[in-house]
Parts: sequence; C-alpha cells; structure tokens
Amino acid sequence: MASIYIHIPYCERKCIYCDFYSVEGLPSKDRFLSALRDEIDLYAIRYADAEPIDTIFFGGGTPSLLHPSTIAAILDQLRGRYHVAPDAEITMEANPGTITRESLSGYLSAGVNRMSIGIQSFQQSDLEFLGRIHSAQQAETAVKDAYGAGFTNVNVDLIFSLPGQTRTRWEDTLKRALDLHPVHISAYSLIVEENTPLYSMVKRHIVTPVTEIIDAAMYESTMDILARHGYRHYEISNYALPGFECRHNLNYWNHSNYLSFGPSAHSFWRITATTARRWWNDRSIDRYCAGIESGPDLPGGEETIDRDQMIDEEIFLGMRCGVLNLPRLKIVYGFEFPRVQNELLDSYIREGYMTRDGDIIGLTPRGFMVCDALIENLVHF
Ligand code: SF4
Repeated sequence: MASIYIHIPYCERKCIYCDFYSVEGLPSKDRFLSALRDEIDLYAIRYADAEPIDTIFFGGGTPSLLHPSTIAAILDQLRGRYHVAPDAEITMEANPGTITRESLSGYLSAGVNRMSIGIQSFQQSDLEFLGRIHSAQQAETAVKDAYGAGFTNVNVDLIFSLPGQTRTRWEDTLKRALDLHPVHISAYSLIVEENTPLYSMVKRHIVTPVTEIIDAAMYESTMDILARHGYRHYEISNYALPGFECRHNLNYWNHSNYLSFGPSAHSFWRITATTARRWWNDRSIDRYCAGIESGPDLPGGEETIDRDQMIDEEIFLGMRCGVLNLPRLKIVYGFEFPRVQNELLDSYIREGYMTRDGDIIGLTPRGFMVCDALIENLVHF
C-alpha cells in the first residue's frame, strides 16, 4: 500500500516559527492548481498501477484556504488516475482561522475523513506570540465544529516549550485539548528553525528558548497525562486512542512508498527490496509550475538511498515509533547489529530505556526522552 501527499503552499499569514514552504495569500493559485493537476497525471503514467493508494494527506501551508469544491476536484482526479482504496484514510490540515462549520461539512462531503486542526495552544498570549491568525476560542470552536459536521477522526496539533511557557501553562493547554475529546493529539516541542523570524529573535536575544530541563519536564508531563487518558504513544510526538493512529504517517515511518505533489514535496519509492529513490520538488511556486509546464518529470532534486542508508533510516524511523524490529532488519536487509551494539542494547534495557519482547525492542517513556541520543549511538558505528 502506498500514500499520496498534496502540498498546498498558501497561508493567510506566516507564523514566526514555521519553516514549511508556504507564501502569504493565494498568489498564482490557478497556475498552481493547473500544475498540480498535470503533476498528478504525469506520475500516474508510471505509478498508477504499481500499488493501491491507502492514504492521502493534504498538508501545507493551509489546505483549508481552498474551497471544498477544489479539494473535491483533486480527490476526484486522484480516484480517476490511481487505485485509491475504498477505505483510504484522507486527511486534511486546517487552520482554525480559516474554517467554518459549513466549510467543514463541505470537506467531509468532498471525501476527507480525517481532520487535523493546527491549534498549537489554548493560551491567547502564546497564539499571539507565535503569530497564529486565530484565537483560543476559535481553536475550541473549530474542534467542536469538526465533530458537529460529522468528522469522527479529529487530530489536534499542539506545541510546547514556547519561550517563557511554564509546565503548568502547558498542562492547561493539554487539559483544554483533552476536554474536546480528539482521538489523536500531535504534541511537538518547539524547534527554532533557521531562516525563521523566531530564529532571528533568539539570535538577537529578544526571546530565550526554554532550557532542556524544562523541555524534558513538559515532554514527561505530556506522556504521563496522555497515557492516563488512554492515548497510545506511538511516535515520539504522536498519541492516539486505540485504532486512531494516523495511517498516513505510519506509512512514512514504515518506509512505505509515497508520491508527493506540489512545491517542496518529497517522494519516496523503493527501487529494490533494499534501495530506494527519493526526489523532491522546487521550494518555489513559480519554479515548480515552470518545471511542470516545461516538460515531464523534472524534480528539484533526487537521491538514491543505498542499503546502508536504508538500514540507518529503518533504525531511526523505528526508534522514533518506539520499536526496533530486529527480525525485520534481518529478513529485509540481512542486517544484524555487531556485538558491541548488542551489548549497548542490553545496557539500555538494564537501565530502563528499552524493553525486550523476543527480538522486538521497545522504548520506554524514559527511552523516548533520550530517543535522539539512543539513535545516534545505534546508527553510528
Ligand atoms: S499556518 Fe501552519 S503552515 Fe502556515 S505558517 Fe503557520 S505553521 Fe506554517
């Protein structure tokens, strides 16, 4: 089963922390939609019969800036060109400042069956600091409207470790999210990305990021509170009630094939059982459109992923999902950890970072807290 991602490169206003590719307003919208249609057709020639499509994800940017009829037309085209599974998971990201109960009903009728709402915080001062276009009240209304419109699969995106944020304030946001009963919560620790206004603010000492200790405390609270409310921690930043794990993201993390359309979008397709090709589109609406208009299949860049890199990625992706599947590494890649790495794994198990169930290694909450360091030690030998 494969996945399709559609990148909508528009936002009403850029948030200060965001490094996803998007521009303000809807410049060149018709040209972009035309190029998108052509790109979807172009890749169908080569990939339509290769694998059924299990998940579709509209991300961005702000897909909810597009009218439901536009989303419906894109989905109709995808269904016409690819073998989209009848029960495909179809997710759309939405900004609470751009949706109404009526538009949500329209997206549902268009075929979207999972709504992912970018809330980030329920504290008005946090939202203003981040440059979000919506209020805390709008965020709450958006989730209620999504359920009211008939969605049963609703995710909320939240961010913690904001400059000046206390653990109590973060826990309050988390509690207000839980009061809305989303079936899925993505809770990200704020990353200060280069080339963002936030990065310049940090460099100029206008704001000070929280310390690692505070960040770790908030992460620990998140894992603890969500576990107590029945959410399964199935990826480093993602939590779901049983059966509501995001299939699209699981496909990414399981190294399944995916095609991505739109500016800056990255695709991944296996060449053989142990190698793959990754390619990506230009990070500019104009260059993306010009590339599609000027001839077939001109990616902005590409790389071949060899067996060694695939193994590293399998370990990295697996660990972020809290699982190291040793039999899979052996069967697919003929790979086994050398003795020194096995000793390291045993020491992590003894120290409570990991558990072992046969040949499956799992991460404990303590392990999740130092996941990046564990990965670093396991893949670089
Ligand atoms: S709305 Fe989302 S995609 Fe747009 S700038 Fe803000 S965080 Fe980035």
